Amino acid sequence: RFISFEGTEGVGKTTAIEQLCTRLDSRGIDYLRTREPGGSPFAEHLRQILLDPATDINDDTELLLMFAARCDHMQQVILPALQAGRWVICDRFTDSTVAYQGFGRAHGDEAVRTKIDMLIAQFVPQLPELTLWLDLPVAEGMRRAGKRSAADRFEQQADAFFTRVYEGFDTLARQYPERIQRIEASGSAEEVGARIWQAVQERLEL
Ligand code: C5P
Ligand code: MG
Repeated sequence: RFISFEGTEGVGKTTAIEQLCTRLDSRGIDYLRTREPGGSPFAEHLRQILLDPATDINDDTELLLMFAARCDHMQQVILPALQAGRWVICDRFTDSTVAYQGFGRAHGDEAVRTKIDMLIAQFVPQLPELTLWLDLPVAEGMRRAGKRSAADRFEQQADAFFTRVYEGFDTLARQYPERIQRIEASGSAEEVGARIWQAVQERLEL
């Protein structure tokens, strides 16, 4: 089983993933917890480059590096784990590319979305069966994330960028309701964790 978590900055993905993993642990479910960009040794190198504020690349280069990272992660880590019967819990996946590169960078431009869809079709043999989109107003996420340390290359973007990223996730959630479950991400970590567990049980018929 393959589950991804998505959302804008500061929505609480890390905490939510920890909550899910604790529940999987207590049920004796074997899982791999991973993340994007990154998740394999080579993709983690690319992550460092992609997040480095000193990196100066154009939007197409950024998009292709995201997919290069994903391709390696998929082949080296995700597919072998799924084939071994393990669950895979991934912090961000293709929806982040549509949201950040497609909507954040390219303002939802149709031509860029077509490129992304083409790259997914060609290089991503398996999508998550369930994607949990942690939905929190951008301003609230900014307040939460503001408490964290130094900003990466994406976190330095202007508020309008993140408003478009949010619009990207919202668009995706409407487009793929059978895969993407919206999770209300306001409230305490325990409340969000409980909502996620309920959604996972219902969607995966546990
Ligand atoms: O989830 P996390 O905040 O660790 O993600 C790392 C950074 O990579 C974030 O700032 C996120 O906005 C960015 N990112 C991106 N495009 C992706 C995936 C992540 O811009 N496709
Ligand atoms: Mg971040």
